[in-house]
Amino acid sequence: MQEYQGAAALLREADVVVVTSHVNADGDGIGAGLALLHGLRGLGKQVRFVAPSRLAALYSFLPGFDEITVVEQEEEARTLEACEVLVSCDCGSRDRLGATIAIQRGALINLDHHASNDGFGDVNVVDIAAACSAQVVTRVLGELAIPLDARMATCCYAALVFDTGRFMHSNTNAAVFRWAAELLDCGIDAAAINRALSYTKSEHDLRIQRLGLDRLRLDAVDRRLAGIALSGPDIAAVGEPEDWGELVEIPRSLQGNQIAYLMREAADGASVRISLRANPPFEVEPVAARFGGGGHKQAAGCTFPGNLAQALHELPPLLRAQLAGAK
Ligand code: 5GP
Ligand code: MN
Repeated sequence: MQEYQGAAALLREADVVVVTSHVNADGDGIGAGLALLHGLRGLGKQVRFVAPSRLAALYSFLPGFDEITVVEQEEEARTLEACEVLVSCDCGSRDRLGATIAIQRGALINLDHHASNDGFGDVNVVDIAAACSAQVVTRVLGELAIPLDARMATCCYAALVFDTGRFMHSNTNAAVFRWAAELLDCGIDAAAINRALSYTKSEHDLRIQRLGLDRLRLDAVDRRLAGIALSGPDIAAVGEPEDWGELVEIPRSLQGNQIAYLMREAADGASVRISLRANPPFEVEPVAARFGGGGHKQAAGCTFPGNLAQALHELPPLLRAQLAGAK
């Protein structure tokens, strides 16, 4: 694809590069960004990873994690050393880059795989056929003739395991397994990565899961819909976890479930973070898009402008309509 060559050409010329990802960067955003960092450093470039919000310690096993700088304020971003190219990994829209957008002086490269990506970069490599953004990064590195080493492959494999839900989501295809095999050929310890990513929970994480089970809601109208709704006080009582990612899997695991949601009310009750998941052919991205969010057809998110009661009033009918409307 031409876009891959365009991104590679810009990176080939640049000496100073900053890599970033979206707010609350996840396994793919961090893994893709770190793989790119290691790859470009191999070419002798000066590369930093600057994230727009605090990162979950869960990902600290990734090589290079300790070097990531968190910059939450634009004033601080503007004081950072100028870079020629800013590379956004796994982010669908400019606003989700938070303060790191203020680092941009030269070109902005947008590497992503979200269907809802709005093409906010100067060069956009948005490959929706890729299972994760790390796969997009690998192809850009391929254009630059940078081979993967074990460190880069570790970051890519973690990203792949994360974004395919451990090879369980609908983006898991034959190409994914072929690529996974290539990554294993680089000498990574896949079992250790899986352990770090999937079987490492803090006591606090388990308390959050208990709260989630307590707040499970089965839809009274359509049993294919279920979710977890957490109020501001609920969350205050246990404390915010570093990572909410897994909680939506609880309603999703119910027998017969086709669409699952997680709602998390802000402490001031002014908004609710929404995570949505569906099994094909059902789609949740259109519902997230209605509230200015996005993501993938079967995994999307948004911020609802209201309190939890309002979200519980407005969202379920829209999700039921998705269940009723799928071909
Ligand atoms: P999660 O529910 O895990 O936060 O997000 C699911 C998917 O939707 C991820 O791919 C994530 O990047 C995307 N996503 C979540 N929230 C938003 C949002 O507010 N805007 C956009 N554009 N994408 C989002
Ligand atoms: Mn991703």
